[in-house]
Amino acid sequence: MSRPKNSGITGLQPAGAPAAPIAPGVTWPSAGGTGALSGPVLTGTVLEVRDLCVQYATDAGTVTAVDRVSFDLDAGEFLGIVGESGCGKSTLLFGIAQLLSPPAAITGGSVSFKGASLVGMTDKQLAVLRWKDMSVVMQSAMNALNPVKSIGAQFKDAMRAHGVRSSAQIAGRSAEVLRMVGIDPEHLKSYPHQLSGGMRQRSMIAMALLFTPDLVIMDEPTSALDVVAQRSLMVQVKELQEQLGFAVIFVTHDMSLVSHFSDRLMVMYAGQVAELGATRQVFDSPLHPYSAGLLDAFPSIRGPRVPLTGIPGRPPDLARLPDGCRFAPRCPKVMAACTARPPDLYQVDGVLVRCVLHSGAVSDD
Ligand code: ADP
Repeated sequence: MSRPKNSGITGLQPAGAPAAPIAPGVTWPSAGGTGALSGPVLTGTVLEVRDLCVQYATDAGTVTAVDRVSFDLDAGEFLGIVGESGCGKSTLLFGIAQLLSPPAAITGGSVSFKGASLVGMTDKQLAVLRWKDMSVVMQSAMNALNPVKSIGAQFKDAMRAHGVRSSAQIAGRSAEVLRMVGIDPEHLKSYPHQLSGGMRQRSMIAMALLFTPDLVIMDEPTSALDVVAQRSLMVQVKELQEQLGFAVIFVTHDMSLVSHFSDRLMVMYAGQVAELGATRQVFDSPLHPYSAGLLDAFPSIRGPRVPLTGIPGRPPDLARLPDGCRFAPRCPKVMAACTARPPDLYQVDGVLVRCVLHSGAVSDD
């Protein structure tokens, strides 16, 4: 899925011009609609996240796990969010879906879904949106599904909660969504433990699609599966997304997994956006040394066989962040300017990058 470079981005400098820090009030990049096969459920922007901050109260003090994250998501767009464990990916998703509970809390910023502010909505107001307009697929379906109810009974509960009363309608739709994810509707009678890991994850995805929502949020839905099952599930998610037109936010620590499926990629590091841009662009020429390090740490499916190199060290403890750039202690390109002050987020050829290498004020060599 291609789009013109820089489309939907205002205030962008032409390619090659000195990069500019993002100023408050600037319109955030989004990828533009992706043209779903059967027509998108919605057009335009589905989700607007602005300066979202999430903090955890811990014994060591307050840690900011999501630090002023902003982005837009268009109808039918597939956004991948990658980063090592502990970088704030799940906290961001939970913050967007309003699923945080103490010790975590949203301490700043906004989340607007189809024009309505989600932050501060009551549980009752959120319950109206969940499943119907926005659904979440968790890391482990075994934990998310009720072990003592059949798949069909769980689908029925979700539909009844949204006012569907007709048994025929419930049975018909349940069979339909299960078929969509490649499972025989016969398994509506099955209990979660009677299904394989892949089938359970597929059932969760089917449940998430009961009402054809505009947004499906997925938190490492394939992490418990073997590589073959992972890939086949990803292909299926992508096909369904193109057919039904819903937008996806997909979190994973595996860069290679999203490379073929996402339109845009957000690389998170220590609670912040390190890089955000069109997936192809980020893969072909990563601007942030952290993105480059993540790419070097995963095998390429098609590229030449090259030795994999990890990133030395580990992400910082959020309670004891280094001065300046948070990645500086691990960065192969570190220089004096990196530790002087925290880097801004710069726009370079349609990609946002938080690195002084791209500030225009520091030479690139
Ligand atoms: P990721 O999804 O990228 O692995 P998380 O969102 O789970 O990262 O966690 C981000 C950071 O938030 C962690 O590094 C940790 O500092 C903090 N954190 C997460 N869960 C808790 C918790 N229950 N209590 C305190 N801090 C937490």
